[in-house]
Amino acid sequence: MIDVRSDTVTKPTEEMRKASYEAEVGDDVYGEDPTVTRLEEKAAEILGKEAALFVTSGTQGNQIAVLTHCSPGNEILLEEESHIFYYESGAVAALAGVQTRTIPGVNGMMNPQDVESAIRGEDQHFPETGLICIENTHNRAGGAVVPVSNMAEIYEVAQRYSIPVHVDGARLFNAAASSGIPIQEFTKHCDTVQICLSKGLGAPVGSIIAGSNEFIKKARKWRKRLGGGLRQVGIIAAPGLIALTQMTERLSEDHENAKFLADGLREISPLRIVNSVDTNIVVVDVSDLGMKAEQFVQALKENGVLAVTFGPTLVRLTSHFDVSRGDMETVISTVNAIVQSRK
Ligand SMILES: *Cc1c(COP(=O)(O)O)cnc(C)c1O
Repeated sequence: MIDVRSDTVTKPTEEMRKASYEAEVGDDVYGEDPTVTRLEEKAAEILGKEAALFVTSGTQGNQIAVLTHCSPGNEILLEEESHIFYYESGAVAALAGVQTRTIPGVNGMMNPQDVESAIRGEDQHFPETGLICIENTHNRAGGAVVPVSNMAEIYEVAQRYSIPVHVDGARLFNAAASSGIPIQEFTKHCDTVQICLSKGLGAPVGSIIAGSNEFIKKARKWRKRLGGGLRQVGIIAAPGLIALTQMTERLSEDHENAKFLADGLREISPLRIVNSVDTNIVVVDVSDLGMKAEQFVQALKENGVLAVTFGPTLVRLTSHFDVSRGDMETVISTVNAIVQSRK
């Protein structure tokens, strides 16, 4: 099977497994796990923030950020198809007690004027705007890179109204690799950021949230409340350290493979590639083939390729370090065979 469902399917490398085995550990709830402490310090340094916290998943990191920034009854502003809104099981309502106000974006990008207009004024009828979230790269926009300039404009608006900005940067390192712009150019336009170690960076578990010392202190308490205080966490932090320090540079290989895949699929009429393929995600519309996404994904599976549906007629394919250029050639020829058999 060639698995292009997601970059989350990447398995830990030999080196990561070894690092787990050899990790120096302690009880992190007592602050005594030197490996996770090293990971958090390194992450803070790389992301250009005062402090960082290891959390078990991207969702947990985002939720802790919302919980830490907001109070129940607040309203948060976020893009209409953002992960926090679309894919986190309604957690911001269930856990933080905030309501969402979504802003339709273009390629994942919110218009700063739309953001400003959505900020609530002083009125006893209104909720307070507690947080603005930006997602980069934007998953449902097909891994689109949100430009630094757009983040800067939104952050400028937010600062004018004293509203914090959180970046869901599950794949922010992909944005940096694709644009060739250092990660800190992105992270300087936000108060807090979440990055996933467990996606394209290949770690088996974990995310990082980063921000001010004060934010991380409160976030640590929220993590504990959510049952996320861990003991000898160095076992999973050790591969995370390798992910963070050695796996970011190679992401452009994934991007090249995704572009190669998209170029190949574009040749296969009547398929349409609907995203800009900025990073490692390719979104294909199969509607002109008279197929539903589910049928197409099933046909792929029967022919040895795993992909996911991304809408009624949309299929998502994601490159990562466990799939090679040769695998991409196989995916293209498999898709071609399915399409030809429909004609
Ligand atoms: C994957 C993802 C998350 C959630 O990460 P998990 O580790 O799966 O909880 C959050 N935001 C975005 C944009 C993602 O792609």
